[in-house]
Amino acid sequence: MKYPKLKVSLDKLTANINCVTEKCAAAGIKVCGVVKGFNGLMPAVERFAASDCSQIGTSRMTQIIDFRNHGIDAEMLLLRIPMISEAEDVVRYADMSLNSEPAVVKALDEAAGKAGKVHKVILMADLGDLREGFWDAEQLLDCAVMTENLDNVHFAGIGTNLGCYGSIKPDTGKMEQLVELAEMIEERIGRRLEIISGGATSSYPLVLSGQMPERINHLRIGEGIICSYDLPVLWGLDMEGMSDEIFTFETEIVEVKDKPTHPVGEIFVDAFGQRPVYEDRGIRKRAIAAAGKLDFALNDKIFPAEEGISVVGSSSDHLILDIEDAERDIKTGDTVTFRLSYPSVMYLSNDRYLDVEYI
Ligand SMILES: *Cc1c(COP(=O)(O)O)cnc(C)c1O
Repeated sequence: MKYPKLKVSLDKLTANINCVTEKCAAAGIKVCGVVKGFNGLMPAVERFAASDCSQIGTSRMTQIIDFRNHGIDAEMLLLRIPMISEAEDVVRYADMSLNSEPAVVKALDEAAGKAGKVHKVILMADLGDLREGFWDAEQLLDCAVMTENLDNVHFAGIGTNLGCYGSIKPDTGKMEQLVELAEMIEERIGRRLEIISGGATSSYPLVLSGQMPERINHLRIGEGIICSYDLPVLWGLDMEGMSDEIFTFETEIVEVKDKPTHPVGEIFVDAFGQRPVYEDRGIRKRAIAAAGKLDFALNDKIFPAEEGISVVGSSSDHLILDIEDAERDIKTGDTVTFRLSYPSVMYLSNDRYLDVEYI
């Protein structure tokens, strides 16, 4: 056994994918399964490829190229607006991309022409989250008409992204605004768009509550499938049938001692130049686990799976735990397990110092 270790439960993953794709299908919505949150670990991507997801989506071309080289032939959606410098790879390896710049769409058209391919384009509208997308409806319309008239790209539809930068909560109003934009475009180009993509995990609650406007027929879902943490914990939704233990983290205890809880001496700065505040709780039983910020980056985004254990802090390679109230007698050489949320899965799945175990 080697630690630290990231455990991935593939059957639980498949069950979560199926639960989401079934609920969405019942509402006439196709799901792009988003795999960037776990850095596209291949056995997990294979589960998405074998599911009812209509595409596999990620923000990085490097991952899409890996998937293709690995023989995954699912439709691939590039989520981040393509760099002009990667246009050749985009049309060669991805089938579809999200876009918001006419110059990029033109570069894709040119590259697709050279490669003898047709690349599908979804144009993004910014409805207030202030990350990617057209802010100005006229500019969106102009780009739609331009895209429609290019030979080597197919204008597949429009989409939006919410709840990423601006923390904006998708609601029926925002979705109706997107449908309105789609219908304006349809009037201009004289045909129906195939895809109206209503967002990410944060739009999924509208499906569950039956409030998603009928014409929204596509969502791009990552976190809600791979962690199922945000909706039950932050939104307070009942996510019956969804596992929140697809990715777990396990590492070994290297020290157990009774220690003061308040540092002793003149307090200055910690290993990362911060000035934390320390609460004096007297002498308590502490353990050090072999893992650190280099692995999970944020020690408040990993959650001890056992009652009575809490995370006190960490430096790059040491994780300090309070085990005073632990239900078992934790000893050096024992292991502890953590549940994870999206940021910790993202960092840990990209960690070359840990083993990944598929169960
Ligand atoms: C990451 C991403 C998603 C998926 O987001 P989740 O919150 O993980 O569901 C969807 N769309 C775009 C454009 C993204 O970048």
